[in-house]
Amino acid sequence: MDLPQLAIAALGGTVSMQASNAGEGIIPTVSGEALLSSIPELTMLARVNAETLGLLPSASLDFEFLLSVLSWAKFQVKQGAEGVVIIQGTDTLEETAMFFDCLWPCDAPLVLTAAMRSANRPGADGPANLLDACRVALAEDSRQRGVQVVMNGEIHHARNVRKTDSLALQAFSSPIVGPAGLLLEDRVRYLRPAVARRVLPLPQQTAQKVAILEASLSTDTLLLENIVALGYDGLVIAGFGAGHVSQRWSAVIERIAQKIPVIIATRTGSGSTARTTYGFSGSEMDLIHKGASMAGFLCPRKARILLWLLIGCQQQDELGRHLNGDPAFNSDA
Ligand code: ASP
Repeated sequence: MDLPQLAIAALGGTVSMQASNAGEGIIPTVSGEALLSSIPELTMLARVNAETLGLLPSASLDFEFLLSVLSWAKFQVKQGAEGVVIIQGTDTLEETAMFFDCLWPCDAPLVLTAAMRSANRPGADGPANLLDACRVALAEDSRQRGVQVVMNGEIHHARNVRKTDSLALQAFSSPIVGPAGLLLEDRVRYLRPAVARRVLPLPQQTAQKVAILEASLSTDTLLLENIVALGYDGLVIAGFGAGHVSQRWSAVIERIAQKIPVIIATRTGSGSTARTTYGFSGSEMDLIHKGASMAGFLCPRKARILLWLLIGCQQQDELGRHLNGDPAFNSDA
């Protein structure tokens, strides 16, 4: 039988971690090729090209490296891969998924997966997640859906997924919308149709800096006031509630927004920012009036990825369209 081609890249993360000696902490040592030996079933589903592109904890991935992974993945599709799977750590999975989704130009699925339990622990979830991710990457229904994250039997769209628990097996969720699909009896079942996607050009520059600051009770303005002088090209605020800050912050944000793009997201972990409800100083209406953009359903970290990429391809003027539900720029699919 002529099996489809599948490409798998390992970048590191808990899925590839184990301790060398008892009592030592786990570190990434297990290659992608070795991870495949834990799922022999895959040889019945696909011809696999597996490569280890990195062995890093995901906190140490950076945008330049991710751009090289993206180009590797695109090359695999050009060479005939029907799907691509990337294995990495869970800590930054919600950000890498957003990064890749903004730039993934292929109809072929790009699927990210990881594990909460290290390779040497009883009940390690890495092999099951990896096999599920391969099934999703090979499914016809996964085409034209951009980038998806497969964890614990669920398929989450890159724009929605967040790590919402630090150590639990069920660590990922898509607040409000829920998973895009499920793996049921080894079958890929989508719960929603695919939506139109807009893919950004590759960034021509990568030196731009975008900061995230979280609003918190009775915080001074020292960092905020120095953001532009420190050389930042964009700012994301993880605001209170529906996207609010204090009166003091609001006054400073007005000055910053005249110089660099400012996005206000919510720090709550779920839901959208408002646009037309509150009118006090520091509210969303006040901040919009002062030149800030509201993140909508995008969490602060995903908003930062979007802004970094838009600045990188000189499309920061399009920010409002990306955030305001223009269907071609849909961010809350
Ligand atoms: N705890 C992380 C993980 O689940 C470590 C990392 O993100 O690399 O993989």
